[in-house]
Amino acid sequence: MMADENDRVLFFDTTLRDGEQCPGATMSVPEKVEVACLLDEMGIDIIEAGFPNASPGDFEAVKAIAGRVRSAIVCGLARANRADIDRVAEALRPARRRRIHTFISVSPLHMRYKLQMEPDAVYQAVVDSVTRARNLCEDVEWGAEDATRSDPEFLFRCAEAAIKAGARTVNIADTVGYIIPEEFAELVRTMREKVPGMEKTCLSVHVHDDLGMATANCIAAIKAGARQVECTINGIGERAGNASLEEVVMALKTRADRLPYAVGVKTELLTRASRLVSGITGFVVPPNKAIVGSNAFAHESGIHQHGVIQHRQTYEIMTAEAVGAVGGQLVMGKHSGRHALRVKLQELGYQVGDNALQDIFERFKSLADNKKDVSDDDIIGIMDGERGTKREVIRLVSLRTDASAAGALTAEVQISLDGAAQVSRAEGRTAFEAIAKAIEAAAGMSVAVAYVRVLTLGEGLNALSRVVMRLTRGKETYVSQGIDADPGVAFARAYLQALNRWLVREGRAEQGRERA
Ligand code: MN
Repeated sequence: MMADENDRVLFFDTTLRDGEQCPGATMSVPEKVEVACLLDEMGIDIIEAGFPNASPGDFEAVKAIAGRVRSAIVCGLARANRADIDRVAEALRPARRRRIHTFISVSPLHMRYKLQMEPDAVYQAVVDSVTRARNLCEDVEWGAEDATRSDPEFLFRCAEAAIKAGARTVNIADTVGYIIPEEFAELVRTMREKVPGMEKTCLSVHVHDDLGMATANCIAAIKAGARQVECTINGIGERAGNASLEEVVMALKTRADRLPYAVGVKTELLTRASRLVSGITGFVVPPNKAIVGSNAFAHESGIHQHGVIQHRQTYEIMTAEAVGAVGGQLVMGKHSGRHALRVKLQELGYQVGDNALQDIFERFKSLADNKKDVSDDDIIGIMDGERGTKREVIRLVSLRTDASAAGALTAEVQISLDGAAQVSRAEGRTAFEAIAKAIEAAAGMSVAVAYVRVLTLGEGLNALSRVVMRLTRGKETYVSQGIDADPGVAFARAYLQALNRWLVREGRAEQGRERA
């Protein structure tokens, strides 16, 4: 497959760094490790695990990932200063293969207003930072922030200095999602022609989707000679997000006739990665999202269905199987047993231990009692709802809500806290407000809810409710979710899931149920 090493495109995943930087996408250390392990299994070449000097939590995450990833290069981000660079090297110590990515802005706007540095000082910082990183790590990537709005001559001078100082990869960032494909191709081509040493250096691109051109820009850059692309799962990232890894990979695979590059990514794991990231962050993938949206392979119209039945390629340029979007043949219902559930979970890409299987099976049974068929979406929903509730200090026992067309709503909730029953009633202007107040009163702790999203899984009146919410307590933020036939109960589950996380963090987990 890799006839020529020069035609291999390296995939650099930054879901855990740039992706996590977007508001509300905070992930815990174990969640980040879970994502990193799947990216590694998927054949991602480089995993940017975080920004170690940003916070102690980031440092811990990068270190934990460095200790777990087996094949991929683990990378950490650093600004152009000694403290950042040294901290990355420290966090990456357990890694089998490691890379330091150090960056600085090179555009006049950023140098003047953000860095408040003269170009000469920026140039010197490039030399010093790459030299420092190179002393600590063989594999160094130098990144030019806001490269697409810089003076090309200055960008090229800095790139040349970085290469001389030992950078093996030079990354040009379209930080604000401004450039258009032809222009980007020209920049990449000129850079390869004009920068001494570029021929033996990997040229990387990092793009954003502010104008909806992230994938197109990656493809244009690859055609012009870029050999590394920085992407995220589901395209999450700051503002409109980064380039979607799944889109760039499948564009190269599907149009190999025009884009003859070797790609090491196992595409059958793309859907699983998409679900995992969406489940952890609570960032729901739109149904019409390319490659991983729930409608990406659905043919609804009669004409299209007829065509596909006659010959799949009439309306299909790639198959659902190729991206792992087909769950399998097993139909689940109320007569399905534990074994069938385990097989189904494996089909959907989940590995669970016996204790966890028992809990999931209980949730599955209570669901199957109310529904004839339990769809793959329902099971994915259960798994997303289970996420983050591995250790429960606090548990929902029962919930009653009283709704009337006029006036306040009442909620009565019973929870079990450290094994003791607590009952409370509260009123609210909405059902969610009443439930939240009742839970807070019963649990004796309060949080602030930033947003609540209510979604349905599946079609018709049989659809389950999935509630995704973002809560804050002090400086900490959590995204949590709950699934149930009733939206109020789903809301209560999501709320309690977040409370559990805080209680676990505060050291009260040991008293709760362990569910490895
Ligand atoms: Mn970025």
